Amino acid sequence: MPETPEMELYKINLNRFVKGKLISNVKIYRKKSLNISDSEFVREIIYTHIESVDRKGKYLIFNLSNGLFLLTHMMLDGRLFYLPLEMQGDTDIDFDHADLIKRKVHGIPGKPSVAFILDDKSVLFFCRLTLGFLHLLKSEQLQDRLSEIGIDVLDPMFNEEYLESLLDNSRGMIKPWLMNQKYLAGIGNAYSNESLFYDGILPHREIKSLTHEEKWKLYKSLISVIKESIEKGGDMEEPFMPSDNFTGGFIPYFKVYDREGEPCKVCGNVIESIEIGGRKAFFCSNCQR
Ligand SMILES: [Zn+2]
Repeated sequence: MPETPEMELYKINLNRFVKGKLISNVKIYRKKSLNISDSEFVREIIYTHIESVDRKGKYLIFNLSNGLFLLTHMMLDGRLFYLPLEMQGDTDIDFDHADLIKRKVHGIPGKPSVAFILDDKSVLFFCRLTLGFLHLLKSEQLQDRLSEIGIDVLDPMFNEEYLESLLDNSRGMIKPWLMNQKYLAGIGNAYSNESLFYDGILPHREIKSLTHEEKWKLYKSLISVIKESIEKGGDMEEPFMPSDNFTGGFIPYFKVYDREGEPCKVCGNVIESIEIGGRKAFFCSNCQR
């Protein structure tokens, strides 16, 4: 599932490529991805401009010129794909058939659920929104939805003290806590495993057993692994647009995540895994205590 680095990279790309553009046509291939009827959805957003794109946790928020907001979440499988006019070549896109788009558009990461055709003839595809969604919301509705999740780890208000005070009021094992969006927004399986490795903490350690130093170091570990991943392209395998060789650049840099049975890059011990809260936790029992 895309986490903070991957969603932040989407935000950066969207602000670079679609910000300020007019939505001149909308195609809905999967009505269930929406929160209102497809006809109402199209009527509300057609001929509005995308003023900017924000992010909180794993959510992206499109600010529209009509004062409404589009809230999208990729969940496990959802992906975005941007196709500028100059990269469409001779492809005559048949916008009425999602299956044909999937077959004909080179590099598209699966079947589109929604497509926005922009005023410069470029296209923004929301692909595979089976568990994910694209909801049109009023300001109050958006605030309600965003209030359900905790602070974004890249929020300037988030710091060592903030993390420590959250942890001091929590119990249970540290890894599922890190992944719980109610406390911190944007951390999932990959970066919870990685930050705990950087901090030298086992994923099943009880929060109550963490020292002051470990809690402060955890903040630094979280921020540094997330920033490094953003700088290197995140861990999304699918490109954002054709000829995108940057996205996914962080994958070879994982220290423990998805490396069960491989040697630890620090000490050479075998990376182990256990199941915690239904998700795989990866760790080095030599480097982590
Ligand atoms: Zn190790």
